[in-house]
Amino acid sequence: MSEPQIVWLRRDLRLADNPALYAAAKLGPVIAVYVLDDARAKDHAYGGASRWWLHHSLDSLGKSFAQRHARIVLRKGDTVEELLKIAKETGAKTIHANRHYEPWWRNAQKALGEKHDLQLYDGNYLHSIGSVKTGSGGQYKIYTPFSRAVRAQFPPRDMVPEPETLSSPDNWPDSDALEDWNLLPTRPDWAGGMRKFWEVGEAAAHEQLGWWEDHVDDYDDARNLPSRDKVSRLSPHLHFGEISPVQIWHHFKAKRSDGWRTYESELIWRDYAQNTIAQFPLYARGNYREDFDRIKWRDPASDEGTARDLKAWQKGQTGYPIVDAGMRQLWQTGWMHNRVRMIAASFLIKHLLIDWRRGEQWFWDTLVDADYGSNATNWQWVAGTGVDSNMFVRIMAPLSQSEKFDAASYIRTYVPELADLDEPYIHDPEEFGRLPKGYPAKIIGHRAARERALAAYRAMKGE
Ligand code: FAD
Repeated sequence: MSEPQIVWLRRDLRLADNPALYAAAKLGPVIAVYVLDDARAKDHAYGGASRWWLHHSLDSLGKSFAQRHARIVLRKGDTVEELLKIAKETGAKTIHANRHYEPWWRNAQKALGEKHDLQLYDGNYLHSIGSVKTGSGGQYKIYTPFSRAVRAQFPPRDMVPEPETLSSPDNWPDSDALEDWNLLPTRPDWAGGMRKFWEVGEAAAHEQLGWWEDHVDDYDDARNLPSRDKVSRLSPHLHFGEISPVQIWHHFKAKRSDGWRTYESELIWRDYAQNTIAQFPLYARGNYREDFDRIKWRDPASDEGTARDLKAWQKGQTGYPIVDAGMRQLWQTGWMHNRVRMIAASFLIKHLLIDWRRGEQWFWDTLVDADYGSNATNWQWVAGTGVDSNMFVRIMAPLSQSEKFDAASYIRTYVPELADLDEPYIHDPEEFGRLPKGYPAKIIGHRAARERALAAYRAMKGE
């Protein structure tokens, strides 16, 4: 029998178009391994919502492996140690993995590669991260020229098929039971809304892609309208690698609509975020623009009023219906519409003058698509602190955003206290003197918040 091959699974929980799995399966029996290694990621160990998704994704892929008389070996502990132990136990000389760019995964890839034969593949992005260079051979930092250069390299790589067979090794290494990892919430079980909202796994991702095929042409017009629900909702499937962006690209490549073109740009944003953390590994931990280290954020750790404001934002109790609808959608479903993510993030940073990292951490814990690169890149973009970002002084007005993007029905869904209000009252019930029972008054007025944010900015600049 040929030698067993280890496949190190991380955020690539699929059978089809999985270059590491495909290459390994051609060479010999496959021992697929997933290691739960919270210590390596430190403050970016998966949060509650991601753990919920991870459980179901591993469960689903485990069943697909079982149908092929194969298994996923589950281990908890240090990734490098566990993989080396399994290699020793089974005599596997090669470990195969798709590349990932989170700093803790890059460190693990390096450490493992120094001790064992590690074959890395491009599997989870449209292009090979780091391969798109500027005219002078450097890395792109700004999205627009980066996206142009990525497009110039299209088509992306060819897809690889699902392995024809997965043969078993003579002996299976020990595996933990998934249930023993306690990834699902129990007391309280807060995942009811998520169960209703999502189907998890590779088959579900392709079903969602099928649904999306009927809507992608309208994306250009509809993507900013949270009430219309015309976005792909593929982000958690993409994050966990249940589907690859290359599969999506090939699925739609014959399309010529503006909708597809804009959608393709969003997939390139996803690559851009990885390109950013590949250059700046600590992007989630600090301002790229160092002058922002001097801004005087309000601090929830030392000020009760700020702690109350942060809590009101987290719970969707700010008195701004669009912000509250978004934060409650996040709490219930583990996901929030992109336009509303921008409004809610801007509100925390500018209206409440709270450091974007507090928001990044909250999203990290509550999003099912929480992604180190995409989350940090977007938070720094909204804050104006990033390598490519909006200006801090551009302060979104949540009430006019709500009207402009026609959010009434979205608000009615997630803020039931306001369900009986018509337009325009629903966007700003307090302004119209129609504050329903149970719904709070605004925690700060828009004008006062704007002035406070601009004053903090001017003080940071020494003006
Ligand atoms: P669609 O609109 O259908 O877009 C298609 C795909 O493109 C998405 O699935 C996603 O993979 C990618 N994409 C779209 N917009 C972006 C973007 N701005 N940046 C990077 N990739 C993008 N996205 C995450 O996947 N994980 C995060 O942790 C995350 N945090 C965010 C935090 C903030 C403050 C903001 C403003 C945005 C964040 N986003 C994040 C980006 C975006 O909001 C989500 O990708 C999108 O809402 C997911 O829904 P969808 O799959 O329906 O997206």
